Amino acid sequence: MAQVLKGMEVANGMKERLIAENADLIAKGVTPCLAVVRVGERQDDLAYERGALKRFEGLGIAVKVSVFSEDIGQADFETEFKKINEDSTVHGILLFRPLPKSLDENAILKIIDPEKDMDCMCDTNIAKVFAGDESGYAPCTPEGVVELLKHFEVPLKGSKVVIVGRSMVVGKPLAMLLLKENATVTICHTRTADLAAECKAANILIAAAGKAKMITAEHVKEGTVVIDVGINVDEEGNLCGDVDFEAVEPLASMITPVPGGVGSVTTSILAMHTLKAAAKTLG
Ligand code: NDP
Repeated sequence: MAQVLKGMEVANGMKERLIAENADLIAKGVTPCLAVVRVGERQDDLAYERGALKRFEGLGIAVKVSVFSEDIGQADFETEFKKINEDSTVHGILLFRPLPKSLDENAILKIIDPEKDMDCMCDTNIAKVFAGDESGYAPCTPEGVVELLKHFEVPLKGSKVVIVGRSMVVGKPLAMLLLKENATVTICHTRTADLAAECKAANILIAAAGKAKMITAEHVKEGTVVIDVGINVDEEGNLCGDVDFEAVEPLASMITPVPGGVGSVTTSILAMHTLKAAAKTLG
């Protein structure tokens, strides 16, 4: 029977440290603050926002939420975004993406101050992740995966990690973070010739494809650590991951559930980034 790796355990493990860091910064005259910028009312944005607000409240870290109507024009949105970007009381920004099609997202990504870019949206932070430079901000979800693996003491050095998914949000940056931990990383995608064989070679298998329950017993060898990043809705309308949990759990040594796995760590990483950004203002 596999050990089920709960994200809340990781988040709770980070909690005391984050609370202490926040209190220390406040004592030094800096009140860390995250600005959440949302355009429209997408359900997934709202769900993430609720989770982030709850986590930040629990840690005592300030959050300012700015909501704009979906029909805001590019010029107006840029003006408003620049105000938030230049606000010295804001240390980090989380911008929900994708923006509505009527807005030019790339133009906004060129505006954001890399020091306030908490989820690795701009080129400067992406380049730092690929260069193994820790002075920037990696995307929260991939960093959450690494934090989770470390928390549960999964050996990374020399481990064979297979990632299913090559997006710039999850798969590629996660591969870079794991390379930095001296893992041997394979990235799979829709053109991978024999996905099951690649996955079966893994000590650590990470599914980030966005396809409900696509990782089955045929993809997993006995003893594999299985990390499920996927967030999908199954045929019955229930939230599920990319991994068929019931089929894979008996083979895995460790496995993350969905919900309650990786997703629960992401907002703690966001908080960690906000504190790091606030601390940098002290010099
Ligand atoms: P994308 O759709 O941008 O990328 C999916 C990747 O998976 C692509 O590289 C695609 O390959 C690959 N893929 C899709 N289907 C298959 C398949 N059948 N076989 C092999 N590879 C496949 O998704 P994201 O990276 O943005 O997100 C992935 C999942 O993670 C989603 O479910 C998303 O909701 C979730 N997510 C979870 C977060 C969290 O906090 N837990 C945060 C962010 C995302 P190709 O490039 O060839 O098309």
